[in-house]
Amino acid sequence: MRNVIIIGSGCAGNTAAIYTARANLKPLVVSGHEAGGQLSLTTLVENFPGFPEGINGPDLVENMKKQAQSFGAEYVHGAVLDTNLSRRPFRIDIEGEWVETRTLIIASGASARWLGLAGEQKLIGHGVSSCATCDGFFYRDKKIMVVGGGDSAMEEANFLTRFGRSVTLVHRREEFRASKIMLDRARHNPKIRFLTNTVVEEIHDVSKHLVSAVRLRNLNTGESWEEEVDGFFVAIGHIPNTKIFNGQIATDPDGYILSQGGARTNIPGVFHAGDVQDRVYRQAITASGAGCMAAIEAERFLEAEGD
Ligand SMILES: Cc1cc2nc3c(=O)[nH]c(=O)nc-3n(C[C@H](O)[C@H](O)[C@H](O)COP(=O)(O)OP(=O)(O)OC[C@H]3O[C@@H](n4cnc5c(N)ncnc54)[C@H](O)[C@@H]3O)c2cc1C
Repeated sequence: MRNVIIIGSGCAGNTAAIYTARANLKPLVVSGHEAGGQLSLTTLVENFPGFPEGINGPDLVENMKKQAQSFGAEYVHGAVLDTNLSRRPFRIDIEGEWVETRTLIIASGASARWLGLAGEQKLIGHGVSSCATCDGFFYRDKKIMVVGGGDSAMEEANFLTRFGRSVTLVHRREEFRASKIMLDRARHNPKIRFLTNTVVEEIHDVSKHLVSAVRLRNLNTGESWEEEVDGFFVAIGHIPNTKIFNGQIATDPDGYILSQGGARTNIPGVFHAGDVQDRVYRQAITASGAGCMAAIEAERFLEAEGD
């Protein structure tokens, strides 16, 4: 029987592990198939406080893990496949082995949707991004392309005009899912050029480890052409990793956990941390802060039970 199991080893899970380990709760962290979470996909992180020169994403999360381990946190490879949260202790299926726990911290993140193009994954952190707040700064006076048709694509495109020489917004349809106000704001921004009914077919240049150009195709005319691009932002949404809870945890229609205040979910003893609940900020520092909140709540929950 565990005091606390933490699902996920990104910023939220690792920070929750540091706090619960220092509270002597000997947490078990299930790393998941993306050990280190989304930061393990990227290169330089310049906005996490405490690193004036910046720090590589994989180093940052590895440091957090080492810090948690130094206080007694235990990490297991693999993923949680199933959960039974109908009564306590909660039961968690880790790669086929059921483990019981008194509290659970869900820090399973929300994965960015990608286009699935050849080379796209290899170029993440080298010109391909899913986060304008994180990476816009790297593209001062550069040619930027944003793909998507929803509010977040409009928001990212508008934000990126602060940096880029030009921002081209590529959308596969004529109509946009974005709200009128967001769309109007983008349309009135003189730095944004719209390319509708258009898809991206290729990203270059994997062999040089940077983005240099993309091949586009107009779906109406069939015309295909290449354009030079330095920064390529994919803004087609995120998928919160909440399927394993089979509807036991209250979520919004997109699958993001609904907070009951603080780090509380609808189930007492189950807490949320990080991007799995956050569709607004999605930053390493906010995920870490949320991990801290979940850990303190779990600790107090156990203490109130007379632990
Ligand atoms: C390319 C890129 C660059 C970024 N750059 C920055 C930046 O410069 N600055 C910044 O502040 N933010 C940046 N971000 C955003 C930042 O990475 C996220 O906000 C942050 O990682 C969220 O942390 P998290 O712990 O909530 O989730 P994640 O980092 O997504 O971690 C989720 C964890 O849950 C695990 N998991 C999922 N399902 C299961 C399961 N069934 N069982 C067990 N484990 C599971 C995964 O394996 C993973 O370890 C970037 C994101 C991306 C994609």
